[in-house]
Amino acid sequence: MDSDLSPDPELLDKVINLAKRRGFIFQSAEIYGGFRSTYDYGPLGVNMLRNVKAAWWRSMVQMRLDVVGIDAAILGPPAVWAASGHLETFTDPLVDCRKCKERWREDKIDGVCPNCGSTEFTEARAFNLMFKTQAGPVEGEGATAYLRPETAQGMFTNFNNVLATIRKKPPFGIAQIGKSFRNEITPQNFVFRTREFEQMEMEYFVAPAEAEEWYRYWIDQRFNWYLDLGIPSDRLRLHEHALADLSHYSRGTTDVEFAYPWGWDELEGIANRGDYDLTQHSNASGTKLEYFDQAANERYTPYVIEPAAGATRAMMAFLLAAYHEDEVEGETRTVLRLDWRLAPYQVAVLPLSKKPELEGVSKEVLAILQPHFACDYDVTQSIGRRYRRQDEVGTPFCITVDFDSLEDRAVTVRDRDTTAQVRVPIAELLSSLRERTNQE
Ligand code: ATP
Repeated sequence: MDSDLSPDPELLDKVINLAKRRGFIFQSAEIYGGFRSTYDYGPLGVNMLRNVKAAWWRSMVQMRLDVVGIDAAILGPPAVWAASGHLETFTDPLVDCRKCKERWREDKIDGVCPNCGSTEFTEARAFNLMFKTQAGPVEGEGATAYLRPETAQGMFTNFNNVLATIRKKPPFGIAQIGKSFRNEITPQNFVFRTREFEQMEMEYFVAPAEAEEWYRYWIDQRFNWYLDLGIPSDRLRLHEHALADLSHYSRGTTDVEFAYPWGWDELEGIANRGDYDLTQHSNASGTKLEYFDQAANERYTPYVIEPAAGATRAMMAFLLAAYHEDEVEGETRTVLRLDWRLAPYQVAVLPLSKKPELEGVSKEVLAILQPHFACDYDVTQSIGRRYRRQDEVGTPFCITVDFDSLEDRAVTVRDRDTTAQVRVPIAELLSSLRERTNQE
């Protein structure tokens, strides 16, 4: 590993502190003592999370002709979850520690209670992870609804709707980003595992004979997506599940794993789901979910390749990978080396002082850049302090407007990573920043 990236037991706490202090992620309902395992995204966090989702949508939908998006309901009737297998099998093994009475997910604790060290547990029982609720004012079975534990089923139940309304044929995909809910037994590690989280999933429908090839293709694509957005290759790896460990629907699953401060763990899963989902929903609903290939005069149930990522978990990995402490002018600084596409602010406009003339030019600069980049504007404290503040939240470019700017109509552009500064005429600022971010 790059020495800069070696495992750091304190890294998780540092990132949690920074996330709270700088407005990325807050504990939910904090003024009431907090609500376990729920988090609110603050002003910088919401920008970054939106950027993560936008980068995914761009790569998975916008840049492709073979994938379209949907946005399906979070609430669903039991019939969907009976057919998908979730009512029956979406469970984790729950055990109680006989000594301290804490409850744990058996497959995550290696036989030792993380709370008291005891090795005495109750028999494991299957605990269903779905949140059950009630739709409408009437109680009873007819009113039961579930919060979706994954976004995928919305793509399967809308398979015919999408086929009928867009002119696609396999191989093609349906993508969705949205909230999912799982009543996790032991939510942990900040936003890595929470009960309410956001997913980015795509179901790619293919002819059965091509499924293996597309499975490999999507593993490759998804691995490269993280690399392209700046996660160093030594902090990513692929882990192919053994056949015996596969979920009930899967014919093959490979995880993209990230080196978290606690070790390697899942970032995203890519699965070959075969024809399980479409067949289940066809049988249960009585509506055939198939594709008719006119050229071959053949009807078949497509296989599904599913890259399933967590938006909130990915954001956490990007934060962890970007966090660095280095030395600038003899002082330690904290810097988030985020890709500019993910940074909460891409540009900060900093008038050297609060003098009205400087603020006037600064506002002009802001008006030029704001339509194209997420901008911050900061006039308080010394310029050095303001640079450090921007470094700490990952702002790639600081634009300083000084007294010379009034004469030469130029500003100083400071680079977050190298701290190098260049003078750029205001008239060329936008094109210069576009060039530096590879947007021609
Ligand atoms: P695990 O075995 O760790 O519980 P999983 O393999 O069941 O997770 P998937 O169903 O494959 O997870 O979900 C796809 C992706 O959704 C995961 O790779 C992860 O990024 C994200 N995800 C799943 N559960 C959670 C959660 N509780 N909190 C945050 N993200 C999650």
